[in-house]
This record gives sequence, C-alpha cells and structure tokens, in this order.
Amino acid sequence: MSDRQSFERLDAEDSLASVRDLFVVPDKVIYLDGNSLGALPRATPERVRALIEDEWGVSLIRSWNAHGWIQYPRKLGDKIASLVGARPGEVVAADSTSVNLFKLLAAALKLRPGRNVIVSEKENFPTDLYIAQGLTEMLGTHELRMVTRDELIESIDDDVAVVSLTHVDFRTGELHDMRELTRRAHESGALILWDLSHSAGALPVDLEDAQADFAVGCGYKYLNGGPGAPAYLYAAERHHDAMQPPLSGWMGHVAPFAFDTDYRPAPGIERQLCGTPSVMAMAALEVGLDILLDVDMDVVRKKSQRMGDAFIELVGEQCAGLGLSIACPTDSAARGSQVSFSHEAGYSIMQALVARGVIGDFRAPDVLRFGLTPLYLRHVDIWDAVAILKDVLVTESYLRPEFQKRQLVT
Ligand SMILES: *Cc1c(COP(=O)(O)O)cnc(C)c1O
Repeated sequence: MSDRQSFERLDAEDSLASVRDLFVVPDKVIYLDGNSLGALPRATPERVRALIEDEWGVSLIRSWNAHGWIQYPRKLGDKIASLVGARPGEVVAADSTSVNLFKLLAAALKLRPGRNVIVSEKENFPTDLYIAQGLTEMLGTHELRMVTRDELIESIDDDVAVVSLTHVDFRTGELHDMRELTRRAHESGALILWDLSHSAGALPVDLEDAQADFAVGCGYKYLNGGPGAPAYLYAAERHHDAMQPPLSGWMGHVAPFAFDTDYRPAPGIERQLCGTPSVMAMAALEVGLDILLDVDMDVVRKKSQRMGDAFIELVGEQCAGLGLSIACPTDSAARGSQVSFSHEAGYSIMQALVARGVIGDFRAPDVLRFGLTPLYLRHVDIWDAVAILKDVLVTESYLRPEFQKRQLVT
C-alpha cells in the first residue's frame, strides 16, 4: 500500500518538476487530457501577441521575409524531426493530420505501381481509415484492407502497396513495434506510414532507426501547439525525388513566386507543402516545440511509465469491485502515455470526474481514457485523481441526470 506522501516524495525528486511552471495549469484541475489537447505554455500568449501586433501589424507583408514566416513549415519541421528520429529536411509542419495522411497515402500508392491494397487496422483512429476510404473510393483502382491487430502480419502480402498504422492505439494505448512491423512491410515490398499523434512528444521515436518510409502526427496533443495547431509529415529522404504530390499547390512548387503556369515540384520535403501556412498557429506551435527540445525524452518516458503504473496499481487497490476493467496494457513497455479503463457507465463517470476537476476523456463505446503528460503532471495528481475516481464510483454520483446528457465532443 502506498500513501500520498510517497507520491509527494517522487515529485520532490522529479527532474521535470520545474517544467510544469512553463505551463498554465488551472487551479483545482487535474489535467489528464493532454493527449487530446495539450496545455497552454505560459510563453504562447505573448509570442502570438507579438506576431500579430509587431510582425503582422507593423511589418505587414514584409514579414514573410523579414520575420521568416515563409520558413515556418521547414523550420518547425526540423524541430519536430529531432523529436521523431528524422533528419533535418525530412519533416514539414503543415495542414492537418488528416490532410497529410491523404497526401502521403496517395504518394505512397504511386510509388508502388501494380500493388493495389492499403492495409490498416480496424481499431485505427477513424480519420486514418476515413481518409484511406475516400482515397481508394476516388481512385477506383485500390482497396483498403482493414484487419485486426492479430491479423496484421499475415495480411501484408504481395498486393499491399502501403501499411498505414498508428503507433499508439488511441483507445487502449497499446504500442506497436515500429521496427518489426516496418521490417515486415518492407520484406513483402510494401511501404509503411506511421501516425505518431500519440507518440511524438510523449515517448522517444526513432523513424530512421526503424527505417520508416512515412509518418504524420498532430501538433495540438503532446506538442502543445494549441487547438487546431498545424500537423506534420515525414518522408524519408530516399523517397523525396520520386514522390508525386497529389495536392500540387504552389507552396510545393519549385519556384512559387515565378508564377509559372505549369506545376513543377520543389526538390526535397518542400514538395509536400500545398498552400499558405497558418502563420499564427505556427508561432504558437513553435513555443510548444521549444519546450520539448529542452527536455530529455527518455526522462519524459520514464516518468510517464511510472505514473501509468502507479495509476493502474492505485485503481487496483482502491477501486476493486466497482465495475472498472483495465483496458490498456499493464506492462508499461507495451503502453503509450495513457491508461484506459472500461466501464458500462464510462461516459457518465467521466462527466462526473470532469465536474470534480479531473479532466480525462471518454472514447466510445465504454473507455475512460487518462492521458499522462509528464511535462506538467505531478505524481500527486495521480494519487488525487484516483481518490476522486473512487469517490465518484462509491457514491454513484455519476448517476445524476446532468451527467447523462451526451455532448458533441466527448
Ligand atoms: C488526433 C489524431 C488525429 C487527428 O487528425 P486531425 O486531422 O488533426 O483532426 C489523427 N490521427 C490520430 C491517430 C490521432 O490521434
């Protein structure tokens, strides 16, 4: 049995403890949803104000050159590259994760003529599946093969052009073996695309070591870029010259300001760009990235694993017999930076928790999901969150009518 003091001691020894001060964490809130929307860095409002008032307001259009606005996709891409084990020039910040999936899947299919299948997992994040469905529907020549996790390896046959997977399962937190699956895909002549939305900024990722072909990910989760932050995409350098962008916009042109009539793709990763970057959002994302570049991802990972193990252990001790079942791997090495539990009244329980300041989220059909963000979470927060969870379950406060009504965003 542990006690609250032992959690306080862990915080006192935590080398990441001071990083919390770089974030705005509201009073009386235990934020366990940084995997959906990362917290606000303290420096972001001033940076965005300066961009709007001092750059846009004063320098106007000169800012594209004078303040380097035009360089943002590459500059932030290079910063993200160092978080995911890519080289400078292999990543750009651009568009949304969904749009980047479309761009890379379409380009991947072109690189594997004669193969007509995209393999993905039934449990993949919905937009990853929807984008593949829309693309195959549009092409009329390819199909999406959706399989269970267990069927993955056997489903990668000679017809497969690209395997599209999310590294950390968004419901269960289960972690794929990136290296092994990439090897299997390559063994059968297929390419692989990794969605890092729940990995980058939460755990060490090494795309180069895994020999991954493509990757995408989100800017507003563990990267703390703010709601709707630009996403990013990665393409291994060996593919750059052969990639044909399906969204052949002017920002991916070799000379956007030559205003040619014909599209000619830029060399390198720049050809994966489409239209004008969202500059204000880029400025906010950069603040989040700069915090991450200053911390050791191995230390972040260890703290996340320790917090996850503690959460699971405390729920086992304190909430036994209250209807929760564990819905994530108990082995922290097999788990991303979240813990999940299922309960038939999961939605109402999460509503009751949020009303008590414990903010996690609910993922249909019955999953209570708690994201662990070591940059601004303390060990005592885990202790307190489980104590409140127990109280909500024991008192059945979640049965109250106000916790039954479904909101648009869960
Ligand atoms: C959050 C998330 C997305 C989000 O895509 P958007 O285009 O930003 O809405 C995509 N894929 C995964 C795996 C995610 O977790």
